Amino acid sequence: MTGSQLSARARVTTIDNLETANFDLLIIGGGITGAGIAREAALQGLEVAVIEAADFASGTSSRSSKLIHGGLRYLERGEIGLVRKTCLERKEIRKLAPHLADSRWMVIPFRRRAALMSLRVAVTTYEKLGAVERQDIHRGWSGKKLKEMEPALNPKRFRHALAYREYLTDDARLVLANIRSAAAHGAQVLNHARVFRVLTTAGSADAVLVRCQHSAREFRVKSKVIVNATGPWVEEVQRLEHSESRRFLHISKGIHIALPAAKLPVNNLLVLRAADKRRIFAIRRGPVCYLGTTDTTHTSGAQHWPEIGRRDVENLLEPLARYFDIDPVRPEDVVGAWAGLRPLIADPNTRNPSELSRRDELLVGPSGMLSVAGGKLTGYRGMARRVLASVAERLGKPLAKLRNEPPLPGGDFDGDLQNLSDTIAREYALSPNTARRLAQLYGTEAAQVLALGKTTLAPGSNAVTGEIAWAVRHEGAMTLEDVIYRRLRLPLYELNAERNLEPVARSMANALGWDAAKTCSQLAQVRSRMHKDLAFVTDETSLPRETPKFRGP
Ligand code: FAD
Repeated sequence: MTGSQLSARARVTTIDNLETANFDLLIIGGGITGAGIAREAALQGLEVAVIEAADFASGTSSRSSKLIHGGLRYLERGEIGLVRKTCLERKEIRKLAPHLADSRWMVIPFRRRAALMSLRVAVTTYEKLGAVERQDIHRGWSGKKLKEMEPALNPKRFRHALAYREYLTDDARLVLANIRSAAAHGAQVLNHARVFRVLTTAGSADAVLVRCQHSAREFRVKSKVIVNATGPWVEEVQRLEHSESRRFLHISKGIHIALPAAKLPVNNLLVLRAADKRRIFAIRRGPVCYLGTTDTTHTSGAQHWPEIGRRDVENLLEPLARYFDIDPVRPEDVVGAWAGLRPLIADPNTRNPSELSRRDELLVGPSGMLSVAGGKLTGYRGMARRVLASVAERLGKPLAKLRNEPPLPGGDFDGDLQNLSDTIAREYALSPNTARRLAQLYGTEAAQVLALGKTTLAPGSNAVTGEIAWAVRHEGAMTLEDVIYRRLRLPLYELNAERNLEPVARSMANALGWDAAKTCSQLAQVRSRMHKDLAFVTDETSLPRETPKFRGP
């Protein structure tokens, strides 16, 4: 894979290509939904274009809990079909990109053995639905074993735990892997370019107008079929086709906070119960443990940076004192935080976002634009196939069943992530932590990333210099925020992300030819962003457990 179509330098050529071709399929939105559809369509040999208003994965698809999971709680609600599909899907994603589906223990602590035993029944069903292999079957941990596996758990309160397998991903990198794979199979993809009008000919949507956010160039892209895959923005983009389109979304906000692992020394993925009985995950990733999520109705429309309320942060911290034998943790201890908006399908029968189904829905607009919303990161391939079946029908081109689907970029290894990171550490003389970080982010491509730069760390930072060149040349990164937040993910997974900013900005300035003023303004923007992430607001616009009035699909 050359990835050169995603190089910042190739941008003008990409825009020229977008302007001259007549595509089979144009996808608006470069989150996991758009990226998944693009890859599937490109593998099927369709002429595909993807237009993303900000950065790839800059919407909900970089703000999730980062779990590739079937969702045990959906099983409790009887959504067996959904659970089976997503459970089986976990294995498929792991086959395509083992570095982006790291198999980990999900641990549910219990006070009493009887409670553990009763959950075993549900977990056994869950494992059967997901065809879980023998070595990955759940197990019970008690006494000494539990102490060894999760030493920070309060042993007086929690004497037992049930551990079952789930997969940890990196959502933004999963999007990038799909986008890059689509580009490698011929798709024309462009980020930082907003669709601002949908054009029709004889009543059929057949083109869009796009504005490049960097050059301000406006251009038209023609396509036989247009898919609106804009997540929380889906209704906004529908209105570009038809100003009167009706509301069908219920937007729910979820936040996560990251703490230093030294403050919350969790080893696996833990399930805690919040005061309101909701499940909260405590997820260990490198030097941090992140906690999430919340589920509150969001009433101020789609946005890239929803605010993070202090009350939500306190709600996430509340269970810690009950579960762990640790010093008190306060909002001031939080080192990273992110908020995302779930584009859920509204239901007139419930006002509680946690009770809304995570199913996806495909709607056809009055001039034929297809809009897709809802769903989960985990189910993105199934969603892509369903959308594509509809696209094929419109094109009058039957789709072949894909045989031997190629791995995602970096996913061509046997799944042993530890072995991969040990090899990287040995061959490039890197610390085990740095090697592990690179293996998780890039899979087998870590070797190419390292070859691009010096194998040393950028002075004063824990980012490897090759990572920045890689992000700019192969992953469509255009701004410091693109690199810091969605390529390296430093504010989410690293301590002291701030100290990386200057070295990364210097490397980006070299790669993209920024002058001093541009470099300073990029730095100021990201500093301000990181500051806002941790400046929790006290009067939030989200309402707990309510939905706006449903006006029908
Ligand atoms: P998005 O990722 O939001 O993508 C839409 C894109 O459209 C955006 O990038 C936006 O910039 C772009 N766009 C908008 N307007 C325009 C325009 N006019 N022109 C061009 N582009 C435009 N799922 C799981 O499976 N596992 C989890 O652990 C999990 N945890 C979650 C936790 C939280 C807090 C949340 C909020 C969701 C979670 N999900 C999880 C669900 C999952 O993250 C979402 O279902 C998924 O990311 C939605 O992706 P999307 O591509 O539809 O939307």
